[in-house]
Amino acid sequence: MFRKVLVANRGEIALRVIRACREMGIRTVAVYSEADRESLHVRFADEDVCIGPAQARDSYLNIPRIIAAAEITGANAIHPGYGFLAENAEFAEICERSDIVFIGPSAEHIRLMGDKATARKTMMGVNVPTVPGSEGAIEDAESALETARGIGFPVLIKAAAGGGGKGMRVASDADVFAAQLQMAQNEARSAFGDGSVYLEKYLARPRHIEIQIMGDHHGTVVHLGERECSLQRRHQKLIEEAPSAALTPQLRAQMGEAAIRGAKAIGYFSAGTVEFLLDEDGSFYFMEMNTRIQVEHPVTELVTGVDLVKEQIRVAAGERLSITATPELRGHCIECRINAEDPTRNFAPSPGQITIFHPPGGPGVRVDTHAYAGYKVPPYYDSLIGKLIVHGNTREEALVRSRIALDSFIIEGIHTTIPFLLELLSDADVVAGRLDTKLVERRMGERAAEAAASAA
Ligand code: ADP
Repeated sequence: MFRKVLVANRGEIALRVIRACREMGIRTVAVYSEADRESLHVRFADEDVCIGPAQARDSYLNIPRIIAAAEITGANAIHPGYGFLAENAEFAEICERSDIVFIGPSAEHIRLMGDKATARKTMMGVNVPTVPGSEGAIEDAESALETARGIGFPVLIKAAAGGGGKGMRVASDADVFAAQLQMAQNEARSAFGDGSVYLEKYLARPRHIEIQIMGDHHGTVVHLGERECSLQRRHQKLIEEAPSAALTPQLRAQMGEAAIRGAKAIGYFSAGTVEFLLDEDGSFYFMEMNTRIQVEHPVTELVTGVDLVKEQIRVAAGERLSITATPELRGHCIECRINAEDPTRNFAPSPGQITIFHPPGGPGVRVDTHAYAGYKVPPYYDSLIGKLIVHGNTREEALVRSRIALDSFIIEGIHTTIPFLLELLSDADVVAGRLDTKLVERRMGERAAEAAASAA
């Protein structure tokens, strides 16, 4: 097993990894930017190294500095968390060349699944259903329009290198297609340095269902059930739960089996997530595979009893997975992402000093956060300041507990998304489990229309 692990990340996920290492008796090294000097991940790690100024490209994305920090401290493995370098194939390769174990899959896996057009083709090759769309990346505007007509409008134009909902555009009909195509390409080029895009049929009211998988170096690949991530705003997840109200045991087995088939086709190991869209008629389609630990991994941990981060570390050290089959799912779990944003001002970032911080507790309540009273939320990184993860014996119990926990989660000094999340968890369709990826935006549209009508 590793002696020392460097955590190449910040915030709640850095703390999460440090906790797993401590439980396993592994020493930890935190790296931090000048803006994160007062961060808890620095306090809780055994050693720490400042790797540069606040801007992520000068610190958390600076590969030479991170490798140097590992070499100076003698860390023999690096956990990348999510975001930053977690899906950077070059980084995984450099780790390997520097004799440092990258706690994740191989550089080749990252590269293969990082190009979403290639990932689609790979999945098609092993009969995993994909959303009807273009064969791979599209060539020119004219033939793309032909392809779009063949698929049938509306179509979704997606960046091959995409992530975080960037470079994604809907074309409702042939008239707007060329303009939307150009916008998607420009957005993709500026966000990812790669303008290639592909086409998919735009589904009207799908659910986002993803399967957690875990593989080791001994040929075992298991799935750990699904997460329902349909509650989104601008393609960003807000609330996730497990299991999904939409899945029967048969459908779960089918989707799980498809995810395993895809992973085995590329010899995958470590934690991975296979994302699907589930259509209203019960058909499911592969969307993309994420080759890292996800923000929402705790909901799977609470219904399966498996510590996914510890499994990742074990697998990276060459050990066998602690499970050989899908564990029985226990109860129900809901995660709310708490962001430092102002929901009344179109979710504008709300950095600044937290004056009061009182997280909820009680049975079934887990809070993963790096925030505390006096902590200054820096303006340089994403706005996630904590995750409220609530388990109950039933979905109803998990919902009630989540609402009570949100209601008693006191954060003052900055704005947070708590009031918005609370409202969402009281929505009749959400309570009934009738979810789809457009629900949140529909509700916000309705609310805006009501406000305009009452003002008139
Ligand atoms: P990213 O990697 O940028 O997050 P994804 O491919 O994971 O992009 O898609 C993000 C979200 O966009 C999905 O969860 C879903 O809400 C929506 N989406 C993606 N593809 C489609 C599609 N073909 N039809 C309808 N919605 C889609």
